[in-house]
Amino acid sequence: DGIGRLDARITGCRACPRLVAWREEVARTKRAAFADQAYWGRPVPGFGPHDASLLIVGLAPAAHGANRTGRMFTGDRSGEVLFRALYDLGLASRPDAVAADDGLTLHGVRLTSPVRCAPPANKPTPAERDTCRPWLVTELELLRPTLRSVVVLGAFGWQATLPALTAAGLSVPRPRPVFSHGTRVALADGPALYGCFHVSQRNTFTGRLTPAMLRAVLHAAATEAGL
Ligand code: SF4
Repeated sequence: DGIGRLDARITGCRACPRLVAWREEVARTKRAAFADQAYWGRPVPGFGPHDASLLIVGLAPAAHGANRTGRMFTGDRSGEVLFRALYDLGLASRPDAVAADDGLTLHGVRLTSPVRCAPPANKPTPAERDTCRPWLVTELELLRPTLRSVVVLGAFGWQATLPALTAAGLSVPRPRPVFSHGTRVALADGPALYGCFHVSQRNTFTGRLTPAMLRAVLHAAATEAGL
């Protein structure tokens, strides 16, 4: 189907020279703990059903997480927090995600990110964000028939996602809504948009984002999505 074709095309993208070099360098040099593993080292497509009603948008793959396993949020600390919350809400088949072949399935939820390649220091440049946008736009267009809510993790994702929603034909209010945790924005004739602090260690280790806070936003968005 369309999403399957999109995912296949994404994995072959080489449009950002700095990110191509970095993702492949990390895949070659590896982290000692994963020295015996073959890294993915390519762009990471979305993960989850092709008729999802809830879309969760992050930032970019982690160098030794999704850039290693080839699946969104899989194999890193951010993912541990996210999948635990999804499992607690009945949206994931298991509470952790370790590898692309671990059998984990998601219920009604798809995970994606506005930048598909691991960036140095987890910081894509604005140019890289804009170069990668068409992939997210197409994913939004393909999901649109079933999509009821979108949760965006963090301010970077928020800034990247609003223009993508507009480009996908959804009407984002003007002036553009500002990111904050727990905010909900209704898009006319489209999904509801939720802001949530990113599940990065910087937020979860410091208690800025607690498991209960994350569950609350995901629960609201899932309920709105009929899950
Ligand atoms: Fe392609 Fe996006 Fe990766 Fe850039 S970040 S190389 S646009 S997949």
